[in-house]
Amino acid sequence: MVKSLANVAADFPILEHKINGERLAYLDNAATTQMPQPILDKTQNFYQTKNANVHRGVYTLAQEATEAYEQARQKVQHFIHAAHANEIVFTHGTTESLNLIVHSYGEQYLHAGDEIVLSVMEHHSNLVPWQQLALKKGIKLNYINLTKDHELDLVELKQKITNKTKVVALCHVSNVLGVINPIEQIAHWAHQKGAILVVDGAQAIPHMCVDVQKLDVDFYAFSGHKMLAPTGIGVLYGKYELLEQLKPWQYGGEMINHVGLYQSSWADLPAKLEAGTPNIIGALGLGWAIDYLQQFGMSQIADYEQKLLAYLLPRLKEIPGITIYSPQQQLASGIVSFNLQGIHPHDVATALDQEGVEVRAGHHCAQPLMQTLGINASVRISIYLYNTLADIKQLLTALQETREFFTYESK
Ligand code: PMP
Repeated sequence: MVKSLANVAADFPILEHKINGERLAYLDNAATTQMPQPILDKTQNFYQTKNANVHRGVYTLAQEATEAYEQARQKVQHFIHAAHANEIVFTHGTTESLNLIVHSYGEQYLHAGDEIVLSVMEHHSNLVPWQQLALKKGIKLNYINLTKDHELDLVELKQKITNKTKVVALCHVSNVLGVINPIEQIAHWAHQKGAILVVDGAQAIPHMCVDVQKLDVDFYAFSGHKMLAPTGIGVLYGKYELLEQLKPWQYGGEMINHVGLYQSSWADLPAKLEAGTPNIIGALGLGWAIDYLQQFGMSQIADYEQKLLAYLLPRLKEIPGITIYSPQQQLASGIVSFNLQGIHPHDVATALDQEGVEVRAGHHCAQPLMQTLGINASVRISIYLYNTLADIKQLLTALQETREFFTYESK
């Protein structure tokens, strides 16, 4: 039975807090999300009754903690429809997952003269690691531009994936534009030319059903804290045969099979890629977040976010002097970026904060995209399952007031 989203906000205690004396409308979910009471309770209960290190002790607490940690891995496996639990590597987040691929796969298999295809809409964490590898090894970076509607230019993409391309690395959903890229189609093009596809799924996984086998992605990275889990936990999914080939990128406890004074051998997957004590509570929290989201079903969550956007977008468009950067057809990701003419985005965010509305302003870790759009910064609204029509109305009223205040100031 799918649970209704009707009263979901009541599960999130932080939403009862007042901000600057006003009701909190938290609309910065693309940055990080809030935790529901059931996950907060389970976290406390783990530390009160179950805490131990994993994969080490033979005593009961340690075995139970290990079992819970491995169950969390299985929950992730099923959530993203991976074929095996050992294709799920726990990391600190999307950034670390992507750095892991660049360090291991990139260092091992990419050479001078090879090419990497990226897009101008990438978050810095799916751009800078590849850029640094390219500088070190003499690899060429080919960037895909936007169409005039601010979607990925698929014609250019198809042309730029050539026999020289070794890696195509793209976001599933842009953290600024909210646009959803057609990953399955892109995987097909990449594989036709013998390249692998690395996907930054940080903004997709929290909002939609992702099936890594259907998409046929080679690597897929995401963070727990954008889907109700604690910060500091993330996932790298990789096809088994690819992960198998990777050399470890960090060395130490847990990732070895045998250690001698001058030689060592490595553990099987996924331990080989998880050196040291992992973020146990983070992994458990991610598993609980998946349980929580699955009560509602990802398609109900996506439909609900669509409805909020359907209310928001036409009203946003009516605001005089607004420029909306997000393409307006496919915003199931819940992200809308915009600017108000003559008002700095930081001023907009600061004024909204006075009204209890929390949104992000800045370059959103996507400076190349800002350059492409011809701006330095934008305001970003990002919604999630616990947002309500009341939040959207509060935002729209606060935006009107902000615009009127600054228009009056500049007269
Ligand atoms: N990629 C995208 C598209 C993101 O939105 C983010 C987070 N803003 C990241 C990568 C980095 O995620 P994290 O900071 O959790 O590693």
